[in-house]
Amino acid sequence: MASGGGNNRNGTHRNSLKGTTTTSTVSTDKPLSVNSNPSKPAFKNKSSPLTGASSGLRKSSPGSLGGGAAKDDAGVPGRVRVAVRLRPRNAEESVADADFADCVELQPELKRLKLRKNNWDTDTYEFDEVLTEFASQKRVYEVVAKPVVEGVLDGYNGTIMAYGQTGTGKTYTLGRLGEEDTANRGIMVRAMEDILAEVSPEIDSVLVSYLQLYMESLQDLLDPTNDNISIVEEPKSGDVSLPGATLVEIRDQQSFLELLRLGEAHRHAANTKLNTESSRSHALLMVHVKRTVKGREPAHSSDNGNSTSMARSLRPPLVRKGKLVVVDLAGSERIDKSGSDGHTREEAKSINLSLSALGKCINALAENSAHVPVRDSKLTRLLRDSFGGTARTSLVITVGPSPRHRGETASTIMFGQRAMKVENMLKLKEEFDYKSLARRLDIQLDKLIMEHERKQKAFEVEIERITAEAQNRISEAERNYADAVEKERLKYQKDYMESIKKLEEKWMMNLQNQGNERKEQMVHIAEEVAEVKKLLSKETSLRKAAEEEVDNLKSQLAQLKMSEASANSEILKLRKMVEDEVCQKEKLEGEISMLQSQLLHLSFEADETRKRLDRGGPGKVPGRLDSPVSQVRSQLKDSGNGEKASVAKLFEQVGLQKILSLLEAEDADVRIHAVKVVANLAAEETNQQKIVEAGGLKSLLMLLGSSEDETIHRVAAGAIANLAMNEKNRELIMSQGGISLLSTTASHAKDPQTLRMVAGAIGNLCGNDKLQTKLRGEGGIKALLEIVKCGHPDVLAQVARGIANFAKCESRAATQGSKTGRSLLIEDGALPWIVQNANSDASPIRRHNELALCHLAQHEVNAKDMISEGALWELVRISQDCPREDIRTLAHRTLASSPDFIAGLKRLRINY
Ligand code: ADP
Ligand code: MG
Repeated sequence: MASGGGNNRNGTHRNSLKGTTTTSTVSTDKPLSVNSNPSKPAFKNKSSPLTGASSGLRKSSPGSLGGGAAKDDAGVPGRVRVAVRLRPRNAEESVADADFADCVELQPELKRLKLRKNNWDTDTYEFDEVLTEFASQKRVYEVVAKPVVEGVLDGYNGTIMAYGQTGTGKTYTLGRLGEEDTANRGIMVRAMEDILAEVSPEIDSVLVSYLQLYMESLQDLLDPTNDNISIVEEPKSGDVSLPGATLVEIRDQQSFLELLRLGEAHRHAANTKLNTESSRSHALLMVHVKRTVKGREPAHSSDNGNSTSMARSLRPPLVRKGKLVVVDLAGSERIDKSGSDGHTREEAKSINLSLSALGKCINALAENSAHVPVRDSKLTRLLRDSFGGTARTSLVITVGPSPRHRGETASTIMFGQRAMKVENMLKLKEEFDYKSLARRLDIQLDKLIMEHERKQKAFEVEIERITAEAQNRISEAERNYADAVEKERLKYQKDYMESIKKLEEKWMMNLQNQGNERKEQMVHIAEEVAEVKKLLSKETSLRKAAEEEVDNLKSQLAQLKMSEASANSEILKLRKMVEDEVCQKEKLEGEISMLQSQLLHLSFEADETRKRLDRGGPGKVPGRLDSPVSQVRSQLKDSGNGEKASVAKLFEQVGLQKILSLLEAEDADVRIHAVKVVANLAAEETNQQKIVEAGGLKSLLMLLGSSEDETIHRVAAGAIANLAMNEKNRELIMSQGGISLLSTTASHAKDPQTLRMVAGAIGNLCGNDKLQTKLRGEGGIKALLEIVKCGHPDVLAQVARGIANFAKCESRAATQGSKTGRSLLIEDGALPWIVQNANSDASPIRRHNELALCHLAQHEVNAKDMISEGALWELVRISQDCPREDIRTLAHRTLASSPDFIAGLKRLRINY
């Protein structure tokens, strides 16, 4: 049987584990402590390093109260920690005490309990922890038990005791299994959970015994036959052991719960048998924890400090042994010693013995007495090593709220106070803890935690339920499926068998019929075979044909592929050609631009040539006077066939359309040169029609109207003059407003050459029978008479030519009878200028005017005006002096035949 103690648990070792800081602040305390040394069995005021136990607990000594927060939290090693827990009112109390206040009032934030003495007075007590009726089991475990359990896991002995009147919640606090609600699990169950979570099952061990102490006899709750277990104390170590008690190894929580249930059942049975009450017995759970310390060696050193590796390998592994004792004490209420409740006096003494002995020991400790009567009872003997130097002890005192049990409640409180050395706690200094609020919140938190645990449990249960249900459904579905499959299989099997049977019957029937039908069938079959053969041969020939077709198609395909290849190469070739064409085009475009520049150059040259001609003066102009541009043309002809050939070539290469389009070019120079080229071209009779057809005439007329450049005016007018040599073109010029454009041009002209061109153009237009009236109507004659104001002989010569043309046509029309009345020339006032210039020094002027006078004189209707303007003298002179014989003759004949002229001659006394 294992005992709780171990020789490794000595002061040195302890300090090495927990450090040495734990012994501070002990001077004012007189902790409850049992010396483990058997030679000094008395309790003594030696502090034990139980810092861990102080976590969450508060020191209650006056020193701690007066000493402020720092000391407050430091804790006192070795002192029994005392918590008070208030049970909520039960159903009976809720009814019976409805009109009374609870006899206790808790101030958990101050860790105080107020016990009502009467209506106006209360006593106040302070505890390490004050647990209200709302405190959760979890919180109770954490503040009361957890530090002790941690100590046990570290190799210390630990004791948790519950003390209080029967019915105040000792068993609830310690022994609840929480089967119905995990939130209700008590300290035993939670302690085992923590222990099992910490130990390693392979190398550590957890052994449990469960006992009952009643009337100083110790019974094994795990083996009811074992009802008088003896207590053995190791003389050396002072450790207490129970060699006769059953020890059960615990590996999981479930087996522990079963063990507790078994123990409880046995306790109930034993009490029934002995006719006792469980409230009169103490229940003790002992948990022995043995743990192997990993990675640590025993703390013994060799004499000279050089231990060999051999020695090291032989060392046993370091183990720590801790013993946890949980004691659910008997009810603290006094047993009536009078025997009135059925107990004998002796019984009552015996029943109370252990509890009284515990009280006495605690009193002795509290009073710091030299003698602590630890041997007086089995309970105190059993708990001896729990109070030992390495032990940690927590006491929870349970009280009820009922004022009816005030006395018992008070004595319970005093027991707890003594355990906390109440005699030192005479006066309480009223103080407020700023942490009170936090603690109140703690209480709320407790409730929430409880709620949470409950919900979590419920959730887990629900999950389990759903899982189980799902499992059920799955297995049911699987079953159903298997059934259905089986059914189906059987059905098919049946069907199959039936079909087989039917077929067999049929077959039998067929066999019978076969005899009769055989011959018939043979014939039939032979026919069928022949038919089939025929079909087969047909099929074969069809197949052959199809194969041939396929071959054919294949060769066609091959051909197609070939031709496709050649087509591809053709395409490539064509592409190449297209590319070549593009190159060619680019090259040609280059040439065109080059030719355009040549063109400009040529037109410039032509211009120059024309200027040279102009400078030569009128006298040098060769024979033809019909058109100034034809002069240019002839000059061009004379000056060099090369140039002319170039223009012609240009015309061919560039194209008329292109040249004409240049007439509208943006660049003024290009326009000028283009109009010059057109003029040059227009000088060639062969080109004239082409120019008109290509819209050149229109462009030239437009240029007259739109351009302000006089050179353009001059050259365009020249070109128009050339085009006007053609009778058809004259009509076109007239219909497109040529007269007014030409006369406007003349009115703006400054250069006589411009006027010469304009006059030339109008002059040409004058030579058309049909257009006489229109020409005159649009101011053609007047324009000519305006032009003569410039006085330049070349200009005058052109005007004279026009007038002569006009007169000639008029005369022709009059002879034909299509014209009556005075000459339009006379109407427009041209006669005086004709007469004046009829004897001009410049022969072209003179000649044209002489001719004009002769034509006018042909008609009697003009005679009077002619006479009055002095034309008669001129006619006489012409008839005598004119170098051209035809004109001379005409003048003469006219003078001789016209009565008006004859009369006029007479009157003027001209002898003719
Ligand atoms: P004891 O062991 O001290 O005789 P019990 O633990 O058997 O007392 O408790 C007596 C009754 O009071 C039980 O029904 C128990 O469930 C109930 N009880 C005790 N403490 C509490 C508590 N903190 N909260 C709710 N019910 C409690
Ligand atoms: Mg109980």
